[in-house]
Amino acid sequence: MSDPPQPAKRHLGDVAQDNEHVKKQRSEYHAPIQLARESSDYQYTALRDLQIGTSAHVYGVVSAIQAPKKSIRGQDYVMTLTLCDPSYPGGMLINIFEPDESKFPAITSPGDIFRAHRMVVNNYNGKLQGLCSRKFRYAALVIGRYDGIPSITSERCTFVEEDLERIQSLKLWWEGLGKKSSYLQTVKANESDTFVNRNPVERTVNQAPARLTLGEVVEPDVDCEIICQVVHISEVIGNAPTQRIKLSVWDGTGTKPTSGQLTTPIPLHYSPASPFGFLAVVILWNEALFPVFLDGSVTAGRWVHLKGVQTKMYLGCLELKMSSQSELLPLEPTDERVEKLIDEYKTRCEILLEEAEPAEPVQSAKSPQSTKSVQPPQPAQIVEPEEVFVTTTTHDDMPITSIREILSHQRVGKYRCKAKVLSYLPRDLKKFTKPFCTKCQKSSGQLFTEEGDVNCEHCGDIISEAVWVFQLKLRDETGDMMVIGYKHNATSLFHGLPPSNLRKSNVTLDLLKKKMDQLMRENVLVDCCISSYLTEKYLKWRYQIFDTTIL
Ligand SMILES: [Zn+2]
Repeated sequence: MSDPPQPAKRHLGDVAQDNEHVKKQRSEYHAPIQLARESSDYQYTALRDLQIGTSAHVYGVVSAIQAPKKSIRGQDYVMTLTLCDPSYPGGMLINIFEPDESKFPAITSPGDIFRAHRMVVNNYNGKLQGLCSRKFRYAALVIGRYDGIPSITSERCTFVEEDLERIQSLKLWWEGLGKKSSYLQTVKANESDTFVNRNPVERTVNQAPARLTLGEVVEPDVDCEIICQVVHISEVIGNAPTQRIKLSVWDGTGTKPTSGQLTTPIPLHYSPASPFGFLAVVILWNEALFPVFLDGSVTAGRWVHLKGVQTKMYLGCLELKMSSQSELLPLEPTDERVEKLIDEYKTRCEILLEEAEPAEPVQSAKSPQSTKSVQPPQPAQIVEPEEVFVTTTTHDDMPITSIREILSHQRVGKYRCKAKVLSYLPRDLKKFTKPFCTKCQKSSGQLFTEEGDVNCEHCGDIISEAVWVFQLKLRDETGDMMVIGYKHNATSLFHGLPPSNLRKSNVTLDLLKKKMDQLMRENVLVDCCISSYLTEKYLKWRYQIFDTTIL
């Protein structure tokens, strides 16, 4: 019998200290839970189906916990847990904020069932992240894995028969996972020298990612492991929470093969032209790994094993991304995997030399083989993606803020951002404008029609005016966000193009189409200004583009 996956030991230790408050809380809230007869009004969303920027009700199994600690901003305490369900077995991070440590949901052990109402879904570094805060009236229910005792954070929590069914099915799923954990055992045995432990659950449910050479990195969004030599290490770039280190790495692959030019379907964010082989760029987001570079544990020339690497597209080039789930293991030059890569590299160099024209001794004298040592190429050979902008702002002096930073601020502000426009809403450009009642100063919920006028649903007047209302999905290297194009801000985005009924005005529609084609061109960026504001009605943060014009 194998147990369901356990969290890293440091987590268990941290949580054990908090058991006192948990016991107290369980006894405090145990009594009010009554099994109601009626079915619940709550619709629960599978974790995979969560939409960024919404508030949702979720159910899942806790796979890892970090004990509450003082939050970096503000006076609150924050507890972080990883929640998984059958739709999202790798799990998502959820931050729970409470003003007082004793108020946290009574989570003690991986395998506890966790239910949250009104959890806000955010985007953190391209991944789903949940936010539970009393500001958004969240409420949680926890069913202890070992004692089965339910506990709640609010006395108004409901508990109906359907809850029992959900809890039972999640339990069965989780216990089934534990039986498949033979892979976990082998991983744990090799884990002692890693700097950061990955969430063990993620390993049991996902297949082990393939180890690739740089020459085999040919497509985006592939999880892989790479053994390579660090050639260059940048300073820490950017400000929290988007700090990162840029590495250049080399593994000896990608030298010209004996016949013809080596080609890849997608240009790589490194130089494939060199006879020394590929040089790849690794963007390291995992702050836990920064110290190994800053304290000199890993310096240029060191061979490393990178785990949890994801290939990413940036401006039409491929690069390698290391996030909070990634690991870095320094390797000795005597490691047999390193020796194999170097041997293969030397063999390729010999073949290249044999093929070289004998009349050109100067060229062969320059080759690495003649110097009898493996010289990694210089970082100067890295090809940086070219940034082409299709918009301009009137605020050239404003600093650039990353999308992840903008989303994390959660306060009223103005930002300048460089990003790619991924898509837009509505998908039908004819719906980019809406009727606007000048009397009520409100845009109508109705759409324009080809013939006939629209009457204002508030005052009944015939509406003759129109406003721009649409959304753009932006992406930079830190994440995605939706920005709204509205009223005069959208008019100036389109270079003064006045809004009108686009079902009637083909001229405006054609001009709009041209402008949008410009925005959506491949490998171009927008330089734009974004303001953030909180909607009164839904208590959600919204972002609007302003003072930005398509060139
Ligand atoms: Zn009106």
